[in-house]
Amino acid sequence: MTAPQPKAPINWIAVFALIFLPIVAAIAIPLYAYHHDFSLAAWISMFVLLGVSSLGITAGYHRLWAHRAYEATLPLKIILMIMGTFAVQNSILFWASGHRTHHRHVDDVEQDPYSINRGFWYAHIGWMLRDYPSGAANYKNAPDLLNDKLVMFQDKYYVPLVIAVHAGILLPIGWAVGDMWGVLLLGGLMRLILSHHVTFFINSLCHMWGSRPYTDENTARDNFVLAIATWGEGYHNYHHIFQYDYRNGVKWWQYDPTKWLIWSCSKLGLAKNLRRIPSFNIKKAELAMKFKYAEQDLAVYGHNVNEDMATVKLRISQEYDAFSQTLNDWAKLKELEIQAKKASVAEKIHQIDDKLKMEFQLVEQRLSHHRQTLNLLVNNLKKKAQAN
Ligand SMILES: [Zn+2]
Ligand SMILES: [Zn+2]
Repeated sequence: MTAPQPKAPINWIAVFALIFLPIVAAIAIPLYAYHHDFSLAAWISMFVLLGVSSLGITAGYHRLWAHRAYEATLPLKIILMIMGTFAVQNSILFWASGHRTHHRHVDDVEQDPYSINRGFWYAHIGWMLRDYPSGAANYKNAPDLLNDKLVMFQDKYYVPLVIAVHAGILLPIGWAVGDMWGVLLLGGLMRLILSHHVTFFINSLCHMWGSRPYTDENTARDNFVLAIATWGEGYHNYHHIFQYDYRNGVKWWQYDPTKWLIWSCSKLGLAKNLRRIPSFNIKKAELAMKFKYAEQDLAVYGHNVNEDMATVKLRISQEYDAFSQTLNDWAKLKELEIQAKKASVAEKIHQIDDKLKMEFQLVEQRLSHHRQTLNLLVNNLKKKAQAN
């Protein structure tokens, strides 16, 4: 028999920030509200500053530093560093390196620092409360950050910076609106707790609740409600397959304020080289999953539909072949387009572009036709299964 594993040592700083502060808030805020009442300005400061700290994490820590999904000018980097420091989630270096490990070893109970396979509470908050080996700092995956002066400055002076940023943001606001305690309690304490759990939901619920339209090789999910809570990070299934895209909600209508912020910064000249996964690759992943789900449905419902099972199976496989063919056509077109752009002078590009655009449209129509046929097949199948 092997001896029981010793428990990982408790991380008292994390216990203070993540357990003690919420207890203080739960006592102090209702007590203060009972005796003094909060000003409207204090409530507004809570919501506005929640956005400031959360976007510092999503646009800065996550998409800029952990994934290098775009490039930022120094002024923008400084602003994002200050906003992220205000969120009190450890230094950029520690956070981004750990997050890269999460992507590389997602779901692995030994190596993913916040593996959902160790349960909701562990992925949400437990992984920080003890010094588990899986969460230990290892900056081998972050040579770029080790060479980044701003990142290293923040890492070195992290605690004084946290204090300075809080004083520099909260005190002037409290003074200006004439409700210092209100702003400290709501804009400071309550905002910090909310901002923490908003980020933690990405590690916990975004690996539990929602759909998997792009890949089922990991637990990450797309979830619109969580996207609202997490400033756009709720499209986590897309994010785990295409982590270098500056967008998490990749469709134009998907709610992703972080992507809108980065895009706006690029229009203002503060950010550039926004990385986008080619739409071809996205469609490919999406359609491959649709076929996979169709096949799974077939396996579930197909048993009840004895009659034309063979026909249905054949049709789905034919659809899949047609789909693969269309994708190949698309890839060829894309290649042609790149060659045309390389080889041609400006005027010629326009002619070729127009021609390619038309061909693209045709291919797109064919793809959407495949999708419709597929949905029809699966729906028929379900209806038949229900009828039986
Ligand atoms: Zn994840
Ligand atoms: Zn990520």
